Amino acid sequence: MSLAEQNRAKPTLYIVVPCYNEEEVLPETAARLEAKLVSLMEAEKIARNSRVLLANDGSRDRTWEIICGLHDDPAHDGMFTGISLAHNRGHQNVLFAGLMAALERGCDISISMDADLQDDVNAIDEMVDAYLEGADIVFGVRSDRDTDTRFKRGTAMAFYGLMRRMGTETVPNSADFRLMDSRALQALSQYGETNLFLRGIVPSLGFQTAEVYYRRAERFAGESKYPLSKMLSLAVDGVTSFSVTPLRMVTVAGSAFVIISLLALVYAIISLVMGTTVTGWTSLLISIWFVGGAIMVSLGIVGEYVGRIYMESKHRPRYIVAEELT
Ligand code: UDP
Ligand code: MG
Repeated sequence: MSLAEQNRAKPTLYIVVPCYNEEEVLPETAARLEAKLVSLMEAEKIARNSRVLLANDGSRDRTWEIICGLHDDPAHDGMFTGISLAHNRGHQNVLFAGLMAALERGCDISISMDADLQDDVNAIDEMVDAYLEGADIVFGVRSDRDTDTRFKRGTAMAFYGLMRRMGTETVPNSADFRLMDSRALQALSQYGETNLFLRGIVPSLGFQTAEVYYRRAERFAGESKYPLSKMLSLAVDGVTSFSVTPLRMVTVAGSAFVIISLLALVYAIISLVMGTTVTGWTSLLISIWFVGGAIMVSLGIVGEYVGRIYMESKHRPRYIVAEELT
């Protein structure tokens, strides 16, 4: 065993699970995670003070009561802990809050995963192994997308392609199922942006990374808390928080229109001199609508950025922790 491996031996693991209205799946998720922690402890891979940290994102159902129940029940031997946000702040924010709580409580490694058991609990073993072999960040990467609808698969592919072209580093087909050690969490804690896109930030941290492949299952129970609107806003956040390429595209498109209009001017002058009069107002109207539309889209893109600058400049807290279980 090398020195680095010795220092890594038996880390304290925190599994961080964001939960928003998950009363239907939470009992099952908790049972499976507890079994996993116990088996890792018995295999002497992780420390006995490892925990499952359930981060409640201002749920309106019984999610928080369930979390408190798991925490208080002596049968679980203090294995469950939790935090509760004062309001629904979205998946990325509550995940960040949970990871920071885990860091504060002295975890050596954290693994973040969804509450709905879509992420494979058994991939946790491989993630811990990858950490023991020296990785600071281990990405859970989906080996296939069989369980997704054709629509979700198509939009996800388009999204990763777009991110790549815009120059944002992401790990394709990896969501927020990943292991981060305390070094990586410490680095992450310095990112103060309101406009949080963890899938872009984490790969940009650097450190030694590894990938673990897993099959993503169907949601165990309940329904998706990510409707199309939330997916779109995550995608827009992903692009705008990492890249100014869309703004540059506006400039490029504007320049192209100016060049086209100059060419049209030359053409108009030539046809005037030649005496061939242009009669069609249809083409004129079309070009007015087209240029008008292009200008409005461009303004919209600029507006997206200005809006985000406004939100960032207020330096508001991303979330407020209302309750914490020890
Ligand atoms: N989630 C959250 N806050 C939200 C929306 C979702 O904490 O506002 C959590 C949710 O409880 C789940 C995870 O984020 O643990 C992923 O959500 P979901 O499974 O509904 O998304 P999908 O898998 O359908 O993309
Ligand atoms: Mg899900």
